[in-house]
Amino acid sequence: MLVVMQEGATETQIQNVIDRLVSMGFTVHRSTGVRHTVLGGVGPLENFETADFEVLDGVKECHRIIAPYKLANRSFRPAGTVVRVGDIEIGAARVVIMAGPCSVENPDQIERIAEVVARAGATVIRGGAFKPRTSPYSFQGLGEEGLKLLRAAADRNKLLTVSEVMDKSQIPLLVSYADILQVGARNMQNFPLLTELGRLRKPVLLKRGIAATLEELLLSAEYILSGGNYDVMLCERGIRTFENATRNTMDISAIPVLHSLTHLPVIADPSHGTGRRDKVLPMARAAVAASADGLLIEVHHDPDHALSDGAQSLWPEQFADLMGQLRIIAPAVGRTI
Ligand code: PEP
Ligand code: MN
Repeated sequence: MLVVMQEGATETQIQNVIDRLVSMGFTVHRSTGVRHTVLGGVGPLENFETADFEVLDGVKECHRIIAPYKLANRSFRPAGTVVRVGDIEIGAARVVIMAGPCSVENPDQIERIAEVVARAGATVIRGGAFKPRTSPYSFQGLGEEGLKLLRAAADRNKLLTVSEVMDKSQIPLLVSYADILQVGARNMQNFPLLTELGRLRKPVLLKRGIAATLEELLLSAEYILSGGNYDVMLCERGIRTFENATRNTMDISAIPVLHSLTHLPVIADPSHGTGRRDKVLPMARAAVAASADGLLIEVHHDPDHALSDGAQSLWPEQFADLMGQLRIIAPAVGRTI
C-alpha cells in the first residue's frame, strides 16, 4: 500500500506513520519527491483499513496497490526516477547513449571503439566480459581481463561503463570495475542474482527476457527494488515472436507502456532488438521518438571480424550518422542528446 504525505509534512509525522506501518508488519520504503513524501508499505497484510492511515497527522491519502509490483509502480514515484551515475542522469531530459562492442575482445579493439563512441557523443561504453552465448563453443568473453580493458578505455575517453553480470559470484568483480551492471535477457528471472543486486547501491540495467511480459519484467525489477537498490533501469531488447525477418521483434510499444506503469527509466536496445545493422538506425529513431530515456547500441570498428554479434554492430560512420539523426529527433519530443 501507499501512504502519500501532505506537502510540508514534518519528519515527526512521517516517522509516526512509518512506526505504525512497521508495527503492523509492513516493510517500509520511503521516496521523498520535490513535493511529497510517499511511503510504500510492503507486507502480507491484506485486511487493513486505509482510513486508519488517512486520519493520521500529515497524511494526504492512502491506497492499496492492486498491481503485483509495488515499488516499481508509477504511483510510488509519480515524477519518475532519475538514476545518477558519475556526472550523468538517466531518466532526465537528456537521452543517454550507451554504445560499444558486444564483447571486449582485446586492448586495441576496445580502445579504438571507445574513441569512436566518445567522439560521436556517447557517454557510456558497453562491452561484455562475461558473455551468455547460446553455444558453449562460442567466445565466452575475457572475464576480469575484459573488465580491466573496458575500464581503462573508458577512463581514457571520459566514459562510464556498463557490463553484464551473469552470476551472483561475479558481482564483486563487476562492482569493482563497472559503473552500471547489466542483467541480460537470459537472466531476467535469475532470482538469486536479482536478490543479491538488491543489496548493492549500484545502478542495474535489467533487460527484458526473450519471452517475458512487461509485468514479469516489472516483478523482476521489484526483486532489486525490494532489497533497497532503487537505481534500476529497464531495457527493451526485442522479444521472440513468430516473425523471423529480424532476430527478435523490437517492441517499441513497450516504451510508452512501461512509462505509464512504472517510474523507472526505460532504455531501448535496437541492436539485439533487430539483429541486423541496417535495421538499427530506424529502430533507434523510433525508440527516441517513443520517449526512451536511453539507447544501448552495439558498435565495432571491424564488425565483419567481431567475436560476437557482428551482424548487428554498427560501423563507426553509421554510429556517427545515427547520433546526428537523433540530435534532430530528440528536440521534437522535448529531449536532448
Ligand atoms: C548483450 O547486451 O550483448 C546481450 C547479450 O544482450 P541480451 O541479454 O539482451 O541478449
Ligand atoms: Mn550482443
